[in-house]
Amino acid sequence: MQKMSVNQCPCCPDDRLKRLEVRESQVVAERFQQLNRKKYGGYMSGWEGELSLQLFQCAGCGHVWHAEHPDQESLFGMYAHGRRMRVTSADRPPTNRMCREMRQFARLVGARHLDQGLLDFGSGGGRWSVAADLAGFQVTAYEPSAARVPSQSRIRQITDLRELEGAQFSAVNLEQVLEHVPDPMGLLQTIKSLMQPGGVLRISVPDICKHLNGTWLEDYPFNGREMHIMSPFEHLHGFTRKSLISLLARSGWRIVSGFDLISASPLLFSRYFLSSAGLPISRTLLFVEPQEC
Ligand SMILES: [Zn+2]
Repeated sequence: MQKMSVNQCPCCPDDRLKRLEVRESQVVAERFQQLNRKKYGGYMSGWEGELSLQLFQCAGCGHVWHAEHPDQESLFGMYAHGRRMRVTSADRPPTNRMCREMRQFARLVGARHLDQGLLDFGSGGGRWSVAADLAGFQVTAYEPSAARVPSQSRIRQITDLRELEGAQFSAVNLEQVLEHVPDPMGLLQTIKSLMQPGGVLRISVPDICKHLNGTWLEDYPFNGREMHIMSPFEHLHGFTRKSLISLLARSGWRIVSGFDLISASPLLFSRYFLSSAGLPISRTLLFVEPQEC
C-alpha cells in the first residue's frame, strides 16, 4: 500500500486549511480496527499505523478530506473485500425515486436533440443503470470493481475504461462516486473527454453540511454499526455545495441553465431550487455541461 498525502483543498484555490478535532489516537486506532474486521474482513490491517486518520477542512469552501489515504490499487482491493453492513438483496430493483429521476434526466437530454446514450460511471450495484434503461437510455455501465457488476441483459457492462476509447456520450451519470475517488478533478476531466458537445453530466454527492454539528466526530471513524460520513477510506471527500461547484468550474464544467431544467421538468427544477437555497436535502445534485474552450 502506497501512502498519498493531500495538503491542499482539492476543490478551490484557498490555501487556508484547519485540522479537525478527532479523538486521541489510541481510541481512533481501535475503532478503525473494528471497522476493518467488520466491514473489510481484515484487509486494512496495519493501515492505521501507516496512514494518519486526520481530517482537514478548507476555510474557503468548507470541503472536508482525509489528510492521507491509500493509492488507487489499494482502494480497489479494499472495495473488493467490503461486505454489506445491512442485509439486503443484491438484486433489488431501482426505487420509484431513481426511476423518476432518470426519466427527468432523459427529458433534459432529449430536449437537446442528442442521442440517448448514457454512461453510468461507477455503476456499483447497477440499480441506477437499470433505472436509466427503463427511462429509455441506451446504457453503458462502467464499474472497475468487477465483483460488484450484476448481469443485466440490455445494459453494456465494462470494467476497464480503455473499452470506451473513441466513445462519446450525450449523458453521464455520476451517482455518489466522486466522494470515493483520490483525484476528483482528474476524473471530471476524463468524463469531459467522453462527452458529446451539448451533453449533460448528472452528478450527485452527499452534502457534508448536513452532518456537521458539535458531535459529528465523536464516533469517527466507526461506531460499531453504521458507516461514518467520512469513513476511512471509503469517503475521501466531504463535499459542500460550494466545494462541488468550485471543483466543477475548475475542471471545465458549467451548470445547466434553470431554463433548460424547468423546460424538461418543473418538478426537477423546484427540487434544484430548494437545494440551492440551502434546504435540508442530504445530497447535492447538479446538472452540468462542458464549458466551451
Ligand atoms: Zn476549498
